[in-house]
This record gives sequence, C-alpha cells and structure tokens, in this order.
Amino acid sequence: MRAMVLEQPRPAEESPLQPKEIPEPTPGVGEIRVRVRVCGVCHTDLHIVQGELPMHKLPVVPGHQVVGIVDAVGTGARGFKEGDRAGVIWLHSTDGTCEYCRRNSENLCVNAKFTGYDVNGGYTESVIVRADFAYHIPPSFSDESAAPLLCAGVIGYRSLKLSGVSKSERLGLYGFGASAHIVLQIARHMGCEVCVFTRAAAHRELAKKLGAAWVGDAKDRPPRELDAAIVFAPAGPIVLDALRALRKGGIVALAGITMTPIPEMEYSLIYGERMVRSVANSTRQDARELLELAADIPVRTAVTLYPLEDANRALSDMKHSHIEGAGVLRVSE
Ligand SMILES: [Zn+2]
Ligand SMILES: [Zn+2]
Repeated sequence: MRAMVLEQPRPAEESPLQPKEIPEPTPGVGEIRVRVRVCGVCHTDLHIVQGELPMHKLPVVPGHQVVGIVDAVGTGARGFKEGDRAGVIWLHSTDGTCEYCRRNSENLCVNAKFTGYDVNGGYTESVIVRADFAYHIPPSFSDESAAPLLCAGVIGYRSLKLSGVSKSERLGLYGFGASAHIVLQIARHMGCEVCVFTRAAAHRELAKKLGAAWVGDAKDRPPRELDAAIVFAPAGPIVLDALRALRKGGIVALAGITMTPIPEMEYSLIYGERMVRSVANSTRQDARELLELAADIPVRTAVTLYPLEDANRALSDMKHSHIEGAGVLRVSE
C-alpha cells in the first residue's frame, strides 16, 4: 500500500517524507484495521519529521488524526464491525496498570504509545488500532471536517479545561492554527469573550469571522486582563507575553508538545497566584467528550485538503502559517 514514510528527519521544506510501498498490516487480538480516507496534519507531525522530538521508531509513517472505514476486525475486538466509520487519535495505547493509569490520568501513562510516533500512523492507506482506543465519529461530520477534531480538537479541548476558564470569562489564544480555531468556537459556545494573538492576516480574518472579540500581536495588551490563556505557538517568549496579559489567579495552559526555552522572568510576572501548566496528550474520555460537544455546538472546521503524496507540502505550509484552520490529507474516497 502507498505510504509517506519518514526515514531521516530533516526540515519540512526538504521533503523529509518519501513515497514508498509498505505491506498492509493485519489486526491482532483486540485490534481493528481502518482503511484511511483522510488524515489530519498536526504540529506534532511537523516536530517528528524535523527531528525536534526524540525519535522512537524509524522508519515511521506519521499521522494521528485518521478517519476511515473498518475493513478487518481482530479476535475479541469489541465496539466496531466491518463498514463502521472510525477515528484514530494520538494516544495509541496505555498499559492500564501504572500509577498514572490508576490515578485516572492515562494521558500520562509511563508506557503510553503514540500513533505515528511509536507505531505507524495515517499517512498511508491502512492503520491498525486497538478497538478500545478507536472512536465513533458523529454522523453530522464529513470525513475531512472530522479529522481536525481528533487531535487539534481533543488537545484544544483538554487545554481549555486545564486553563480553568469559566462561562463568560475572557480567554486569550496565542497562535491561531487548527487547534485554536476549534477552541475559539467552544469558548464562544461557553459565552467566553475571546482575544486572539496572531500575526498572519488570514488567521486574524478567520478569528474575527469565528467570533473573536479582539485580535492583535502576542506583544499587544488586550483591552482588559485575561482570565485564562492558551499558548499554541511553540515559542517560549510568548509564555511571558501571556503572563503579562493575565489577571491574578489566572492560568496559562501550554498546548504544544515542545517549545523553545522559556526566558528567565521577574517573579512579579507570576506572583499573584498566576499559574503556568502544560498539557500532555489526552485521555479517551477527553476524546469522547470533545466529539460529542463538537457535534452539539456544532463546530465548523476550516480545512485545506492535500493529496497524500503532497504531505511534505502540507507540513511545510503549516510550518509557515499558510493554512487557514487545518490541513488534511485525502488518502482514499
Ligand atoms: Zn499506564
Ligand atoms: Zn496532534
């Protein structure tokens, strides 16, 4: 089957992914095989192909926002049958027994495996997933509109929860890619006033269209102090910008898997019980809640489609903020 394979990390502009033929996998006990229709492109994929995260598996097929159709069911796999639509996300599996799993924090599992990082992901025609780590996609979403929900949406949703923002409070979003454009809609649904900090003109336009009350640069001060902020941009200095805009007792949640160093700061920036916390992966419960909420609101995702073979171009476009909303690879009809 066709696949875009990473053999050696390098900058996105230098086409790190190579088109290859790889064998079609067979589902084992408790697993299903999903014939990939679309796969979303995520910033984490960009960090993987560029070698900005420690490599876990090489060669590897990236991609962890898969929507497809179940075409084989392994022994003992429950909840899906052939022909069902299924979603595959970043959290591929956990051990279910470690200290964190027992604390209901499976997102922090010490033996967690991740799709498109520890095991092959969705930049290809078929993926294997444990049935208990796969998701039913609400029927109101098309394949391509659902794909960005599976990581951009789920991680954004967890970040929103961890930011502690309440109904009708003021939320700041630093960076405005796939995740932020979904979070903005959920926050608006909660009655929050949303301030968006981004440079790209197209991103500012989309933010306004989706109901942002104010848009500006990361360095700008919003009209009033923020109750909470989420930093999507992987740039450490922005954490300090967000703290400067935050009220006492507010939380800055960091949504990215990696970030450039956070500069040294005056204690006064964080004094007043301000908090900074990161967001790591998601639980299955987060994913189920987000999919249900997204269908209820309903969230509208802005999507740019690329053929599978153009995965390098999609990653490079995302890196340079040339995609409005989310990039999605079309693998099959
Ligand atoms: Zn565990
Ligand atoms: Zn992701």
